[in-house]
Amino acid sequence: MITASAYKGKTVGVFGLARTGIAAVQALEASGANVLAWDDTIERRGQVGSMAKDLYRADFEEISALLLAPGVPLTHPKPHALVEKAVDAGVPLISDFDVFQAARADLPAHKVAAITGTNGKSTTTALIGHMLEHCGMPVAIGGNIGKGVLSLDSLPEGGVYVFEMSSFQIELTRDFKADIAILLNLTPDHLDRHGDMAGYVAAKKRLFEMQAKDTTAIIGMDDESSKALAQGLEADVTPISADKAVQGGVYAADGWLIDDLEGKQAQVGNLMELPTLRGAHNWQNVAAAYAAGRSLGLAASAMFEAFKCFPGLAHRQELVAEIDGVRFVNDSKATNVDAASRALGSFRSILWIAGGRPKDKSFAGLVPHMSAVKKMYLLGEAADAMVHDLGEVAPYVDCRDMKEAITLAANDAKPGDVVLLSPACTAFDQFTDFEARGEAFRTVVLELQEGERV
Ligand code: ADP
Repeated sequence: MITASAYKGKTVGVFGLARTGIAAVQALEASGANVLAWDDTIERRGQVGSMAKDLYRADFEEISALLLAPGVPLTHPKPHALVEKAVDAGVPLISDFDVFQAARADLPAHKVAAITGTNGKSTTTALIGHMLEHCGMPVAIGGNIGKGVLSLDSLPEGGVYVFEMSSFQIELTRDFKADIAILLNLTPDHLDRHGDMAGYVAAKKRLFEMQAKDTTAIIGMDDESSKALAQGLEADVTPISADKAVQGGVYAADGWLIDDLEGKQAQVGNLMELPTLRGAHNWQNVAAAYAAGRSLGLAASAMFEAFKCFPGLAHRQELVAEIDGVRFVNDSKATNVDAASRALGSFRSILWIAGGRPKDKSFAGLVPHMSAVKKMYLLGEAADAMVHDLGEVAPYVDCRDMKEAITLAANDAKPGDVVLLSPACTAFDQFTDFEARGEAFRTVVLELQEGERV
């Protein structure tokens, strides 16, 4: 656990007692703070014993700071009641990343890398963690990818903390100084929480505005919003790209990873040799990880060896099975149009299982990416909208559930085809989350494989 002596003797409110909030309560208590913790649900309050305190009624004069879980809205659709109360009382709003920052003075010498962007955050976070480990460095990964940052064990000297940060987490953070901050890409997402695209971009930008001088900002140059964000930052900007040469940066060209950090355009390795990092979108992630490693002084060849043995992440273009020459790929994490378009561009002949609860206003943006789709197997609330936007470019069938979709697709499939679950929607209409949807896909596919063997 990470503790911050700066909070000793201070009274800190914590609101929202899921993973992040509970880790914060424990870390603050261990730091010697007086913690007042609350959640709207009784079950969650039950986890904090005598620290439970109704923050709606508490006297905020006594509180030094209010730590919010990332799900609590600061501004949109409207500020949470406790946000308004804290603002009125002049109580600073903080996140667990602020507490981590305060703890850094007590930790052995270390670096912090933070990764954000619309898509690819978890993949890049895991890839950097794997790369550093492979190169023999002490490493801990946390944040949005799973473990709350305050529940990590502290690292020995020379360690690197690698954090995935969502726009919500950045928005709630006042003071967090990443030594290496990475922005992969920006496409419209979570606009309900940020008001509009400008609000979303501004939330992401704060990560870079908080950085100190002479630190590193690694920025994807493949979309206009990210490119604009890179202008005028205090940190040294390393540009990266998956589809064009970027001077002084790291990029993919003709399937090769190119290092131009010293203006030499050196070929680092053949990206086609990375089995779990297929497709240009993954090359963006590779370029980001490589640039981060270089800024930490790692050798190019050691990093590329690490990329070759990256195990990949579940639910992100994960090959679940190959049955009679047909590959079954689980990309359940593709909850928006942009992420799904990447998967549709990664294979040649696709039986596409898609749908769920729509996040984007329209699916029309997928039309240019449909050339490899032989047929659509549609699920959930989005089915009608998908037929409306895509029904003229590919044949389709409405499916009751995942099992029916997989069974129909498997029956239609020929050797060389890919049965791809890449929903372009959230899972919330039929599953608890994208993980449960991906597991449902895996279960049915493995049953199918078992059936083949009998
Ligand atoms: P995040 O953590 O940002 O949601 P993930 O790494 O979990 O990102 O990947 C989410 C989805 O986006 C997956 O479907 C994956 O194939 C796709 N994806 C991964 N990296 C990128 C990228 N750099 N650009 C666009 N899509 C990506």
